[in-house]
Amino acid sequence: MMRIDKFLAHLQLGSRAEVKKLLRGGSVTLNGTTVTDPKTKVDPDQDQVALGAEPLVYTQYVYYVMNKPADVITATKDAKATTVMDLLPDELYRPDIAPVGRLDKDTTGLLLLTNDGELSHRLLSPKWHVNKVYVAGLDAPVTPADVRQFATGIHLKDFTAAPAALVPLPGQHAQVTVHEGKFHQVKRMFGAVGKEVQSLERTQFGPLVLADDLLPGAVRPLHPDELTAMM
Ligand code: URA
Repeated sequence: MMRIDKFLAHLQLGSRAEVKKLLRGGSVTLNGTTVTDPKTKVDPDQDQVALGAEPLVYTQYVYYVMNKPADVITATKDAKATTVMDLLPDELYRPDIAPVGRLDKDTTGLLLLTNDGELSHRLLSPKWHVNKVYVAGLDAPVTPADVRQFATGIHLKDFTAAPAALVPLPGQHAQVTVHEGKFHQVKRMFGAVGKEVQSLERTQFGPLVLADDLLPGAVRPLHPDELTAMM
């Protein structure tokens, strides 16, 4: 059971305040009877909630894409630091959402969040080889030898990174595509060829591409075609 204002907010019909207004307006029915009290309890699996003539079907799973800013940690809870969960607006927040994988505190860019544990597990499994694309700002330009080294695989202390495509970009930047997700992997791969990563942004995660209109700190539900591509 959950409060009807929460139910309506989860369906993205507006913020909790907007949803309360909607209820007060008398356009919401619960099993055919108008409800105006935001505290009314509903059972999303049993009850029929409608907005005017339109039945509202509760969605179990939500999928969001965030442009993670720097200085925010990829965790669900932290005593001191701001977490990616703190950036979710009220109407998108649900307590069971978690980030898929992790970006370092100073890493920016594309982060998927969902309460679909099965999909999350699948996307993180090494078997699925989900490509992640990063743009790194470096302390020196990438050399052809670096490109060859990345293409053969880089030996790190505890594992050998699989071959990765490295593409030099202007201004001491480089794009790298990896499908693994070991701790500090990209920074350590550059470290192995004597380069320091000064900025790191994830621009792609599988079929998802970070678009310019998703500003740092912003989050939005996946578009239906993006969701289909993830499945
Ligand atoms: N590799 C890193 O080193 N850091 C990240 O945040 C992601 C990939």
